[in-house]
Amino acid sequence: MGIERTLSIIKPDAVGKNVIGEIVSRFEANGLQVIGAKMLRLSQDQAQAFYAVHKERPFFNDLVQFMISGPVMVLALEGEDAVLRNRELMGATNPKDAAPGTIRADFAESIDANAVHGSDSLENAAIELKFFFNNDLLPRNVSN
Ligand code: ADP
Ligand code: MG
Repeated sequence: MGIERTLSIIKPDAVGKNVIGEIVSRFEANGLQVIGAKMLRLSQDQAQAFYAVHKERPFFNDLVQFMISGPVMVLALEGEDAVLRNRELMGATNPKDAAPGTIRADFAESIDANAVHGSDSLENAAIELKFFFNNDLLPRNVSN
């Protein structure tokens, strides 16, 4: 699979808990490098567009309201098998099902407030990175 890029969002619950650094540390300790980062508050239109794939799901409105309830930290991550590695570090969508030691097991309260978003495929990672970052602005990995 090689070196990939993926998108992570530290959601409003985790930002509010003051654990941005702890979450970023997990990425850094596990072979993922932050190559882009911005803190922002999503508008309702942006949140609806970002999660458009879920617009028919019963939880869509709650998800959008939650994602606009406070600031988020958007991260572009790069590393070996970054898409899968990030998903493994995140843990299952419902923190009750998340493996011990994963971000969601340690920082999430519920399936709604579940600390992080992560792209679920290389194809979606490219789409989601474009949503937040101008690709030309991403620096090359210079550390290794
Ligand atoms: P993931 O974030 O693990 O990729 P999904 O893409 O399936 O999960 O869902 C997107 C987000 O929607 C989840 O992170 C979660 O916040 C919310 N969500 C998913 N399923 C449910 C559900 N059954 N009830 C409430 N919220 C949900
Ligand atoms: Mg998903």
